[in-house]
Amino acid sequence: MKALVYTGPREVVFRDEPEPAQAPGEAVIRIEAAGICGSDMHAYHGHDPRRVPPLILGHELAGEIVAGPGTGKRVTANPLITCGYCEFCAQGRNNLCANRSMVGMSRPGAFAQYMSIPTSSLIELPGDMSARQAALTEPAATALHALHLSMRALARPLPEATVLVIGAGAVGLLAALLMRSYGCRGLRTAEVNPLRRAAAERHAGCRAYDPLKESGPAEGSVDFVFDAVGSKDTRRAALSAVKPGGVVMHVGLQDWASEIDMRRLTLAEITLLGTYTYTTADLRATVRALHAGAFGDLSWVEERSLGEGARAFDDLDRGRLAAAKVLLIP
Ligand SMILES: [Zn+2]
Ligand SMILES: [Zn+2]
Repeated sequence: MKALVYTGPREVVFRDEPEPAQAPGEAVIRIEAAGICGSDMHAYHGHDPRRVPPLILGHELAGEIVAGPGTGKRVTANPLITCGYCEFCAQGRNNLCANRSMVGMSRPGAFAQYMSIPTSSLIELPGDMSARQAALTEPAATALHALHLSMRALARPLPEATVLVIGAGAVGLLAALLMRSYGCRGLRTAEVNPLRRAAAERHAGCRAYDPLKESGPAEGSVDFVFDAVGSKDTRRAALSAVKPGGVVMHVGLQDWASEIDMRRLTLAEITLLGTYTYTTADLRATVRALHAGAFGDLSWVEERSLGEGARAFDDLDRGRLAAAKVLLIP
């Protein structure tokens, strides 16, 4: 089969690889579409010690089962392979599984014609769901999971909140789209890339601004801040913008060393939350939401053939792409 293989820093190669054999408890999927994630880019830059070359990257997928139980069914998958018996799995919080591994990291990923995955990870798709919608399940579920955690912490219903989304990449944009469908109005987004600002305005109805050139919301004026970047600067901006009693959801993790204004956090009774991926329940809910159109028409998503994958990685690396998500089609 053909696959896009990460062979070393800034190098992915389209080449022949052995087809996966059907293993016990697993199914072989013919990949219809697979999204390039920020974490794939992180690996591409040689910054992820967990992703060791040579490796087929990719964990955001849609496809059809061609061998194993359920042959013929169209599916997406939970790329986190979880144990099913640890304390966290038993609670239904399998994103925190103590024994988790991941597709496209500790085993071959989805930038290929075929991929094998445990059947317990599979999520069946509604018959008429497009590969484009289905391949967005994983990043959209990241947004959905983070919003659900945030809604538990907000003092008032989310649609009443003033909201600032920092970063209009895939997860930030998908979160804004979902908040719109929940009835939120008055969304603002901070984004340095002008093409992504335009997309957030057009598709999610956000008021977008450039945080490097314009001042954002006044200090202490926002009920809910969704930080999809997670850098020292965005954390400072988030904790400054949030209202007393408000919530900051920290989703991105560009870097992690910073001073946090614990005085303001404490005296202004601010809730600072972390989030990691999604549970299987979140992924199932996301498939339903995508299928029902809660994330819009996804016309901002760009498709490239898998054979042109190296070019797509290079374009993303150089910031030449407006699209917050690129799907590779084998
Ligand atoms: Zn991802
Ligand atoms: Zn577990």
